[in-house]
Amino acid sequence: MAEAILKTDGLSCAFGAFKALDDVCLNVERGSITGLIGPNGAGKSTLFNVLTGELEPSSGTVALNGRDVTGLSPDRLFSSGLGRTFQIPRPFAKMSVLENLMLCPPAQAGETLRGLFLAPGEVRRQEARFLDKAREVLDFVTLGALADHPAGKISGGQMKLLELARVLMGDPELILLDEPAAGVNPTLTGILIEKIEELNRGGKTFVIIEHDMDFIMSHCNPVIALAEGRIIFEGTAAEAQANTVLLDAYLGAQADE
Ligand code: ADP
Ligand code: MG
Repeated sequence: MAEAILKTDGLSCAFGAFKALDDVCLNVERGSITGLIGPNGAGKSTLFNVLTGELEPSSGTVALNGRDVTGLSPDRLFSSGLGRTFQIPRPFAKMSVLENLMLCPPAQAGETLRGLFLAPGEVRRQEARFLDKAREVLDFVTLGALADHPAGKISGGQMKLLELARVLMGDPELILLDEPAAGVNPTLTGILIEKIEELNRGGKTFVIIEHDMDFIMSHCNPVIALAEGRIIFEGTAAEAQANTVLLDAYLGAQADE
């Protein structure tokens, strides 16, 4: 088995008396596109929130590349190579698409203390490099032509691509995508899948929460299912499809939605 890029041990997260995550032991293989499925309310987004430091676990640990990162802030985790998108994209609507990307530099020399000690020319050069990177990332996600559009005016699907672009600015090795295809038209979903697979071939690992079973079955391996805060299945997409208990209890409900 390939080395785990991400590993959780006994991870739980409670909201009052309610356990949204209950003793989750997860291994994400480096280089995989892991699919995370489960009915609404299963705890999938909560798991992402705990993994990325948005929420503190009630118990258990999270390790990234073998290093305990439990309780680190989202910023620290982002600079340690962990990027995520949100189920509901949150762009700054009045800023342009490009400006939205310029908000998330790994190190914005002009504004950090270190920047004070850099020659002004060097700050300008860093900013220029950063702008080049933002344009390159926008072109990669096929939003280059929309660089100057207000981010609030692009379509829902384009916002999902902008979310991916925002994550790519940090050059993460592990990317968590929360329902990237939800509400996205087939053309943009196709582009998104192509980009995910291209990034994956380049070495990036993905964990993808998705309700679209075709998406999961065609592009994710392994597949992990969560229900009521617990992992109830882990296997290949083919095994998931052949697992009648899983299909009846958890996927059938989704097909009716
Ligand atoms: P999923 O993404 O699988 O649909 P979530 O992780 O969003 O599910 O939610 C899991 C459960 O935890 C749900 O019952 C939800 O209502 C609850 N929950 C999520 N976030 C909070 C919160 N901040 N406060 C209280 N309950 C929450
Ligand atoms: Mg969710």
